[in-house]
Amino acid sequence: MSRISVMKPWLGAAESEAVAEVIASGWVAQGPRTEAFEQAFAEHQQVGHAVATSSCTTALHLALVVAGVGEGDDVVVPSYSFIATANAPTYIGARPVFADVDAVTGNVTADTVEAALTPATRAIIAVDQGGMPLDLQPLRRLCDERGIALVEDAACGAGSTYRGAPVGVGADISAWSFHPRKLLTTGEGGMLTTNNEAWATRARRLREHAMDVSAAERHGSLLAPQESYSEVGYNFRMTDLQAAIGLVQLDKLDAMVARRRELADIYRSALADVPGVRCATDPDYGTSNFQSFWIEVLPEFPMGREQLLEKLATDEVSARRGIMAAHRQPAYAGHPGQMVPLPVTERLTDHTLILPLYHGLEATDQARVIESIRTAGGA
Ligand SMILES: *Cc1c(COP(=O)(O)O)cnc(C)c1O
Repeated sequence: MSRISVMKPWLGAAESEAVAEVIASGWVAQGPRTEAFEQAFAEHQQVGHAVATSSCTTALHLALVVAGVGEGDDVVVPSYSFIATANAPTYIGARPVFADVDAVTGNVTADTVEAALTPATRAIIAVDQGGMPLDLQPLRRLCDERGIALVEDAACGAGSTYRGAPVGVGADISAWSFHPRKLLTTGEGGMLTTNNEAWATRARRLREHAMDVSAAERHGSLLAPQESYSEVGYNFRMTDLQAAIGLVQLDKLDAMVARRRELADIYRSALADVPGVRCATDPDYGTSNFQSFWIEVLPEFPMGREQLLEKLATDEVSARRGIMAAHRQPAYAGHPGQMVPLPVTERLTDHTLILPLYHGLEATDQARVIESIRTAGGA
């Protein structure tokens, strides 16, 4: 019996050729391919500006800097997220304040965020967890009323929609990940998107040491212009090798989403009659790309989440525990940003697991995953 992975990126000959072309061109650092990828991504996501970065983590870091968040400010974040969401405010001397999440979507809501606001709150980072679109409009109202920046951590969200448009467009600034655990991958890589031109311009400079002339521009001129550095910047650049892969992957994104949604439907209908299993489902206001197809193991299920993971492992199925809770990690133990109770976060992080789902998942393999859960559930 062969092992079934939880995720496999969909990469092929087109990506190899695109990388080979970049190598043959002699320019492998950030340059024309990166610019082309930024333009194509902005167009696909229906947003004015896209700035490529080395990861979503660095994109979140830059997003907070250009939104004017800094030392001593509070940023409301879900604890129920990959730890990078909480780390971004920490990098700039701001305090992540943990908000709880909605029990159905796993995302923060206007109510959970409101409970975590302080007089020092300057921004919130709302996450489309596992690709599940967050309910943006109520958060938008809350932020507008209080003059707070709305940052969307759309790391997992490429291809998810909110009220008929791509997720990310309604936030002040959004951050995306191209890590292989997400849909569209460049190995490592990220993107910032915003309709705020001044923020995009500053982010573009800051990711390249805040140099006023880009390396690509300097290289293109025989007598390189004298550069200057207006502030302390970072090296958060993407390479053209990555961007070339990104351009090919972006063309495949819609097909990836369509296939993932089909596979998610199959899981949902096959597990519908198993008592004690709740499957991830689209909210009524949007569609998920099912970056993570999770199930919650409810008390009616004959065994607990850990036992079910063991059963799946015995059947050579590589499932994963659900989303982590940052406030429980040593890095944030006793952190002053944990001010409100987080009961839903703790329940979801303890009782959910993520099932194998990827573009190339074979029907027979998916059937094996389903069979393993159905047997465990006595169905
Ligand atoms: C994966 C992920 C990140 C980090 O993305 P990188 O590109 O690996 O830095 C941040 N936030 C969330 C919600 C994620 O899932």
